[in-house]
Amino acid sequence: MSDSPSHSAQPAASLFIDGRSVDGQGPALQVLYPYSGEVIAELREATPEQVAEATAAAAAAQPAWGAMRPVERGRVLMRAAQIIRERAEELARLETLDTGKPIQETRVADWPSGADALEYFAGLAPTVTGQTMPLGGDFVYTIREPLGVCAGIGAWNYPSQIACWKAAPALVMGNAMVFKPSEETPLGALKLAEILIEAGLPPGVFNVVQGRGAVGAALVTDPRVDKVSLTGSVATGQKVYAAAAEGMRHVTMELGGKSPLIVFDDASLEDAVGAAILANFYSSGQICSNGTRVFVQNGILPAFLDRLAARSAEVRMGDPMDEATQHGPIINAGQVAKIRDAIARGQHEGARLVCGGPGEGAFVPPTVFADVTDDMWIAREEIFGPVMSVLSFDTEEEALSRANATPYGLAAGVFTRDLSRGHRVAAALQAGTTWINTYNLTPIEAPFGGVKLSGIGRENSAAAIEHYSQLKSVYVGMGTVDAPY
Ligand code: NAD
Repeated sequence: MSDSPSHSAQPAASLFIDGRSVDGQGPALQVLYPYSGEVIAELREATPEQVAEATAAAAAAQPAWGAMRPVERGRVLMRAAQIIRERAEELARLETLDTGKPIQETRVADWPSGADALEYFAGLAPTVTGQTMPLGGDFVYTIREPLGVCAGIGAWNYPSQIACWKAAPALVMGNAMVFKPSEETPLGALKLAEILIEAGLPPGVFNVVQGRGAVGAALVTDPRVDKVSLTGSVATGQKVYAAAAEGMRHVTMELGGKSPLIVFDDASLEDAVGAAILANFYSSGQICSNGTRVFVQNGILPAFLDRLAARSAEVRMGDPMDEATQHGPIINAGQVAKIRDAIARGQHEGARLVCGGPGEGAFVPPTVFADVTDDMWIAREEIFGPVMSVLSFDTEEEALSRANATPYGLAAGVFTRDLSRGHRVAAALQAGTTWINTYNLTPIEAPFGGVKLSGIGRENSAAAIEHYSQLKSVYVGMGTVDAPY
């Protein structure tokens, strides 16, 4: 069903500080619906003083929150997850307005995955304990402590999921957070702040500031901030990591990639084609872990390209609020221009356009290039749009060495019916996440993050706990103190 042409998603105010909606005092920030270009909200950025206000509120609220029993903190997160599930439809529509992603995606992927994170960490928190090291009389025990104030900075492709993935482990471990969503998609994080308060979170524990890169930079270097978790591009990650280092702050960096997907001759053709589609065209290709270098063994290559072109031609592009739409617009005009430039480069470099192309307006259709070689720009650079490069190979050894010849290492996939080969290749691929006979599934139970330039640290799973807490050792002397003089 299609939506009415007019949409407004104006929030109560631009910022959320110390439990209240607060007007931003900085430059204007218009929020556009990527499908129509219509202004759906008029916000204002936070000033440097307002960033400081938010971190001060977080620092003031953190000690009491951190002193609560983990099971009590978990209860608040669990209630928030319940509210998200109750308001699923309203939140999915807001996410679609903010991002332009089809409602059939935002109903199942975005907020639902955020609610999973809240539930998962709510349950996990009370199980986090220290250790005891016996020393034959004396002993040492460890305490896992919160870090203090965490800064979260998000990308625009999964704004609400990113906010939840960062807030859930941070808050449940007793930290407070100041979150800055992407300037392109600022609305979901404000909703999360309201929902957390409604669920019983004390004011100041989760705050939201808005703004472009400069606001993020001010947040990262605020003296009250102990940890920075960024989801964004490698270039931004390098800047933020360096700025955080000055204050010896902890970091988690979830950055970009150019991930490989290797398809062997013995793979199930339909499954491999389906995975290549999911790995390149879901969310109109705006996914960090996308397998944009698809290495296909020569024996299966012609059939693979035929099926890929046939299935890609069936895609339903259009109004994201229409339940039938499978492929939405690109986030903004600048990103559309970058993707079209990449497509032009591919053609100029001699890659063969199998299907798709530059598209029209805000839309770029699923685009597949064949005959791509490793040295081509489209095979080396993250495009962050629906552009797949298909490369051919003969041997496993060759595929592996070419797949790993990249400075990135976020994700990778392998399709084969040979069990040993599947595990051997998954082990040899240089990536934080690898999939065998599937792609792009990121359940909350599994660690997610990159190696090489794609990042540091892990989100999700029990592993995330380590990135939102620190260990204290307590040595307990049980005898007399034996001093030399
Ligand atoms: P971006 O790097 O342009 O911006 C990310 C965030 O950083 C934004 O909120 C932005 O305002 C902020 N920022 C920019 N400069 C800053 C600075 N100097 N200091 C502090 N903050 C600053 O990324 P984007 O265009 O929003 O998102 C796309 C990129 O994100 C892609 O490269 C994609 O691969 C990556 N991404 C990674 C993951 C992951 O989990 N690994 C997930 C989603 C997206």
